[in-house]
Amino acid sequence: MLNIILFGPPGAGKGTQSAKLIEKYSLVHLSTGDILRAEVAAQTELGKAAKILMDKGILVSDDIVIGMIDAKISKHMGGKGFIFDGFPRTLPQAESLDKLLTTHSTSITMTLALEVDEKELFHRISLRGKSSGRADDQDEATFHKRMNVYNNETSPLKNYYSKQGKLKQVKGIGEVDDIFKALCIEIDKGN
Ligand code: ADP
Repeated sequence: MLNIILFGPPGAGKGTQSAKLIEKYSLVHLSTGDILRAEVAAQTELGKAAKILMDKGILVSDDIVIGMIDAKISKHMGGKGFIFDGFPRTLPQAESLDKLLTTHSTSITMTLALEVDEKELFHRISLRGKSSGRADDQDEATFHKRMNVYNNETSPLKNYYSKQGKLKQVKGIGEVDDIFKALCIEIDKGN
């Protein structure tokens, strides 16, 4: 299987590039942000609890997101592979993902990290806030909160995957298609 983690801070372009990658490589897209927003829209108990945290830029608990991913992985196990987008975001999530994949006799192929500086991220999130309707995209303080959470809890995972020899860093600034090509080169090299 081809199992890719698309890694990067809020606004790095994970969603945009995921959409193109799943089409080219016939992968299943697993975005914990999208799954959580679907729960919010359906007004489930989980969605109601998650919304309060998401609107503030705080992470939902590891147990909840790991449970969601577990269910989706099991459901799509017969396919060519997965793109994980916005997951894992903490060390316990990364360790659980490795264990889950091992129980299905597969593993992470590579982690592609989109590198974008904070000034550009803020610019992109502000633009997205005008059309996305996402409360977390519409407030500067929430953007800084999300960046802090990313820098403190998520960014250290680069070291986790680097130690496994699985981290590939790709410049995430420029034309969408050029970034896509750079990602494809890394996938085709390592696959
Ligand atoms: P972005 O990458 O733009 O910050 P996402 O759509 O990935 O946004 O996530 C939005 C919010 O959903 C996060 O700020 C967090 O509250 C919650 N969330 C998404 N994925 C996870 C995760 N893996 N673990 C914990 N919380 C998550």
